[in-house]
Amino acid sequence: MTVLEKILEIFFPTKCGICGKLGKNICENCYNNLKKYEIIEQHNEIYFVYRYEDIIRELLIKYKFNGNAYLYKTFSECLLKNKKVCKFLKSYDIILSVPLHKKRQRERGYNQSKLIAKELAKGINNQIEIYSSKKVMLHKKIENEKIINNYSLKFLDKVLIKNKNIKPQSEKGIKERINDVKGIYSIVNNSCIYGKKVLLFDDIYTTGSTTNECKKVLLEAGAKEVGILTIAKDYIN
Ligand SMILES: [Zn+2]
Repeated sequence: MTVLEKILEIFFPTKCGICGKLGKNICENCYNNLKKYEIIEQHNEIYFVYRYEDIIRELLIKYKFNGNAYLYKTFSECLLKNKKVCKFLKSYDIILSVPLHKKRQRERGYNQSKLIAKELAKGINNQIEIYSSKKVMLHKKIENEKIINNYSLKFLDKVLIKNKNIKPQSEKGIKERINDVKGIYSIVNNSCIYGKKVLLFDDIYTTGSTTNECKKVLLEAGAKEVGILTIAKDYIN
């Protein structure tokens, strides 16, 4: 912990984003309660962690629309406590988030997905460092390879950008969503992602129109593979 972090801890102590208990960004009790929303079945390159309902939905709304930026720590900690999510994160070279248009980001004050994606990269790299320094032999082949090659998951910002501000996806029907996102994303620097395994992070997956369009743009720009990680999957739409 840096000096600044220690000072911040005095004035803004770490507390559970759900019940407010001091100590961690998510307490054991709340973390265990969230387990009933976990999605068991995963597709190959796509990972939804929770169903978008009840407490998950409330927490995401609180985070996205009510200015509670600090909740990125709670979500990040939940994901980093999940071994399957960690394994998935470690199978990629780069993580980036679905971008907001600069006007939207100014209004909200933060990009909710970017805060989490950045924290996930930091968290997973810390985990790998701990494993390497203790020289723990890991059973999983993929993790061993990554450590030997001084692996780290790189968070990239301002590579994938949104060129046009469109009305929120949640206010539209499926057909309109797909047509609306065509051509609104682009890549600023192809060389950063060329030949890399890229993980795209978003908070909620509904029809997939946004993430699929971003995936298409990333593949066209030369990414070797593109995976998708989202906190929640909305089954209502
Ligand atoms: Zn709690």
